[in-house]
Amino acid sequence: MLMRPEARPSELSPFRATACAICGFLARLDLRWLLAVVLLTVGCSFRRGDPVAQLPADYQVKQDQLIVRSDSKIAKNDPVIRDLEEVRSRVQRTLRLPPPTKPVVVYLFRDERRYADFMQAKYPNLPPRRAFFIGTSTELAVYAFWGDKTSEDLRHEYTHGLLHASLKTVPLWLDEGLAEYFETPSGSPGHLNPEHTSRISLAMKHGWTPDLARLEKLEDINEMQRSDYQEAWAWVHYLLHGPDDGQTVLLTYVKSLRTASHAPSLASSVRKELVDPEVRLVAHLQSSLPVARGASPVGPPEAELDAP
Ligand SMILES: [Zn+2]
Repeated sequence: MLMRPEARPSELSPFRATACAICGFLARLDLRWLLAVVLLTVGCSFRRGDPVAQLPADYQVKQDQLIVRSDSKIAKNDPVIRDLEEVRSRVQRTLRLPPPTKPVVVYLFRDERRYADFMQAKYPNLPPRRAFFIGTSTELAVYAFWGDKTSEDLRHEYTHGLLHASLKTVPLWLDEGLAEYFETPSGSPGHLNPEHTSRISLAMKHGWTPDLARLEKLEDINEMQRSDYQEAWAWVHYLLHGPDDGQTVLLTYVKSLRTASHAPSLASSVRKELVDPEVRLVAHLQSSLPVARGASPVGPPEAELDAP
């Protein structure tokens, strides 16, 4: 582990497409795995008092169940704080969640280098990502750094935190689908995520067929490809903005996750309650996505659609 090369800043950004999502990974971790990570970390590269491995603690803002600890000065009226409060309000209102009962702690490093050094020292086995949500039995934590994409990253990761603070379990695909949905700023036209619209439009042109039952089988974050994030977002968008009974199905399902230790299948409810859900999902996207409505598709070649 000591020989592992440092995660250079230039290595971080390309991974944004698959985002963090590590929450789905760590939140579901076998405790023995987590212990192994901790032991490897302690034994190999993390030493108490090592400044590289210090969490941001110079400034703190505490607002209800949101705690932000930052290297750089931050006040309660900072746009980042207001943005997170807005996300919390949107998530609670949209999904009809009760107020979170556990705090979510956001650690904001002063820059990408310090963040990368910390993650490398503390979690040497994790892949480089621009931001992380790591949920354990003791803390729901978001790790990110001050930069151009801070707000977008925090909206995504904080959504994970809110879900895990309010629900007993969250299926991986839904965790990511909702985080992708809420990472767009409030008031985005059509609640669309621009990262997905052109790619999904292109996929539809090539005969893409959604399959929620397949998505539900993904339990390891490493199995999730970029196209799976897109499809997860598409199902969330369809259920929230498609037929009225779609929203009812999703909200009933989310409510069941407050107490369920094992997530039941949403695909079976969708199939039971909605007529031809796959066909209607595609029709919903065709009428919702500006690219699909007739503008020239702007996206990667087909071969890239499944790239992680
Ligand atoms: Zn995520």
